[in-house]
Amino acid sequence: MYDVIVIGARCAGSPTAMLFARQGYRVLLLEKARFPQDTLSSHYLHMQGVALLNRWGLLDRIRDSGAQPITHQVYQGPGVRIEGFSLPIDGLTTTYAPRRYVLDPILAEGAVAAGVEFRQGCAVKDLVFEDDRVVGVRYATPGGTETTDRARLVVGADGMRSLVARKTGAENVIEHPRMTTTYYSYWSGVPADFELYERPGRWIGVLPTNDDLTLLMTYFPQADYNDIRKNVEPAYLEAFRSTAPELYERMRSGRREEQLYGTGHQENYFRRAYGPGWVLVGDAVNHKDSITARGITEAFVQAQSLTDLIGDRLHDDAALRSALRRYENELGNEALNHYQGALNVAELKPEGRTEMLRKLVGHQEHIDRYFSTLSGACSIDDFYNDELLTLLDQG
Ligand SMILES: Cc1cc2nc3c(=O)[nH]c(=O)nc-3n(C[C@H](O)[C@H](O)[C@H](O)COP(=O)(O)OP(=O)(O)OC[C@H]3O[C@@H](n4cnc5c(N)ncnc54)[C@H](O)[C@@H]3O)c2cc1C
Repeated sequence: MYDVIVIGARCAGSPTAMLFARQGYRVLLLEKARFPQDTLSSHYLHMQGVALLNRWGLLDRIRDSGAQPITHQVYQGPGVRIEGFSLPIDGLTTTYAPRRYVLDPILAEGAVAAGVEFRQGCAVKDLVFEDDRVVGVRYATPGGTETTDRARLVVGADGMRSLVARKTGAENVIEHPRMTTTYYSYWSGVPADFELYERPGRWIGVLPTNDDLTLLMTYFPQADYNDIRKNVEPAYLEAFRSTAPELYERMRSGRREEQLYGTGHQENYFRRAYGPGWVLVGDAVNHKDSITARGITEAFVQAQSLTDLIGDRLHDDAALRSALRRYENELGNEALNHYQGALNVAELKPEGRTEMLRKLVGHQEHIDRYFSTLSGACSIDDFYNDELLTLLDQG
């Protein structure tokens, strides 16, 4: 009998398991993949995520992994270019975009070091119910046999296609249609900052990652998915040429080192977050378009919030229920803002944004605070302070 079983060992699952174990709970972490294994991602850790890694004692591992330090950000849209960077959190001034085959094993090793029992190559097949309560999981072991383990709480950190959500019937409480389709690859010989370029219908993201490679990423409207997937490479290159010509010239002196990766399947939803004996974290509870690169950071925030709220209340029915309710309520605050922000950017209609950003040019403090709204260092409410509102009115 475990206190907690966590299904899925990436950005949401490993930190949740680690933080429960650090509270003294007996935790089993099940993952169907075998690490290290890559997954679709542009890898960017916003400052808020970096600060959590630091608090958890894992940031040095990222620094030592060869992930390139990022201290400068560029945004260029129609008629405007701004440069600056997020405000610090906990004195930290540098972010990173580590490859997922680097980040995810570091997170899982953090869980193991905290005392978590980690089993890879174990696909959970079903949940075990008693009356209406989830009391355990049934899973296939690497040897091919099936095993059942029981726990007080089962955590679904099993991503967008969550089995825990499906088996518990956790319905979408908020949902929106898919908005973008994205393709990216890794390039050598293209030195870069964290760079974003935008024009109507196109968004470009540039991130320095491990091994001196630069990730170069394009976003198109979801409606174009069927056309683009038939001929990805020309569409990918044309997006750079027409949206960021200077970057396109830099790419011409570099080399694409890997295949093109992409997806047209990015759902937008919040699911019901918990029920008797179960709770969802990460993409399993809230998935959104990847264009603002917030998913990893939010998975970290949720892991911290869930484990803080439960604390020593795991074995007290009423206290656990109230902790889970508070966890779900907290998702409705900050995570909802970031969800709306992602949908807004994913419309690929820059006009409103660029009109506002043009007024920030020459006001570095506001520019840095703008970048901080996405990084988690400044809330939207704090960004729109009296000084900024006066500046916007004057424009
Ligand atoms: C193209 C793209 C780019 C992105 N770029 C960024 C970015 O730059 N920055 C950012 O913050 N976010 C980014 N994201 C979002 C980010 O990748 C996700 O939000 C994040 O990976 C969510 O982590 P998770 O642990 O919740 O889920 P996942 O990463 O999906 O992990 C779920 C895990 O559960 C395991 N699992 C599933 N079912 C079972 C089962 N039945 N039994 C056992 N194990 C199971 C899976 O094998 C998997 O390892 C991007 C997403 C996409 C698609």
